[in-house]
Amino acid sequence: MKSDNKNIRHLSLPALQEYFGSIGEKPFRAKQVYEWLWLRHANSFEAMTNLSKELRQKLEEHFSLPAVKIDTVQQSTDGTIKSRFRLHDNHLVEGVLIPTDSRQTACVSSQVGCSLSCKFCATGYMERKRNLDYDEIYDEVALINQQALETSGKKLSNIVFMGMGEPLLNYKNVLQAIERITAPDGLAMSPKRITVSTAGVAKMIRQLGDDKVRFNLALSLHAANDKKRSEIMPINDSNNLTELIAALNYFYKATQNEISFEYILFKDFNDSKEDADELIKIYRQVPADLVNIIEYNPIDMARFQKPDAKTAEEFMEYLSKNRVNARLRRSRGKDIDAACGQLANKG
Ligand code: SF4
Repeated sequence: MKSDNKNIRHLSLPALQEYFGSIGEKPFRAKQVYEWLWLRHANSFEAMTNLSKELRQKLEEHFSLPAVKIDTVQQSTDGTIKSRFRLHDNHLVEGVLIPTDSRQTACVSSQVGCSLSCKFCATGYMERKRNLDYDEIYDEVALINQQALETSGKKLSNIVFMGMGEPLLNYKNVLQAIERITAPDGLAMSPKRITVSTAGVAKMIRQLGDDKVRFNLALSLHAANDKKRSEIMPINDSNNLTELIAALNYFYKATQNEISFEYILFKDFNDSKEDADELIKIYRQVPADLVNIIEYNPIDMARFQKPDAKTAEEFMEYLSKNRVNARLRRSRGKDIDAACGQLANKG
């Protein structure tokens, strides 16, 4: 359990230096501790072995270090690893390592539960409990990075914010986590390898542009007209497609960063030629690099099914004939409920 002490990872390096000055310690000690916290990913003061026992005790008395812990791990037959993480207040979130020949991708959560209630998503049927702090998001990534190293000898190459929660409704923590993940004294990853996926919060997409972020953006589109989209994603009522298209163009103009669309194929809902035509129309209004067409993974609570292979193939062919850069993503980790839209702490 987290104590009432201040979380030491919520202190910047200058703030830590100030604290060390106030207790008569040399400034370089602050740097050492900062490295333990971020670069070396220490999960207790005890682990900071190049500090004296007295100093470690003093830190323990003044601060808390509520590190995220792995609760359970499940491995899919296709190599995908789903981890359930336990937070200091016993809330649980999930993260997934998706290994391929060329990539080690982490899919991470940004909130406990989600408030957006998308009809096809298991997380959407859970209540939103709270946002993750930036150090908690960082821990998820660092722990999945360790799994990648242990299982393949390779570090993470990519991170996608496509786990539980809407990242743009936890804006400050997601940006701060990415700052630490990309910092040389953090995980030193390139922001070009990070994609934040949103269900479509137009105001915050514009904010990303104003903040000149360097990571990529994915929009979970899933339906290419307002009527259908509102049916499966209630957020579309307040953030319709016209607003989203304008916000994406604003983001691109400000950052030139990659934009992609995610489009889950649902049988007899959004898999017809007319649906493809509407998708093409939207694609042409946004400087999007890619449309990821995703195979749906049915969940117990939802009525949707995935289309048969022939329908999916025809949909893809039609997009390609119309010069849409689309890729069909076969879902990974289905047998352990780790695939897109399946994260719901089922264990
Ligand atoms: S798809 Fe994303 S935004 Fe929608 S309910 Fe699921 S976690 Fe929330």
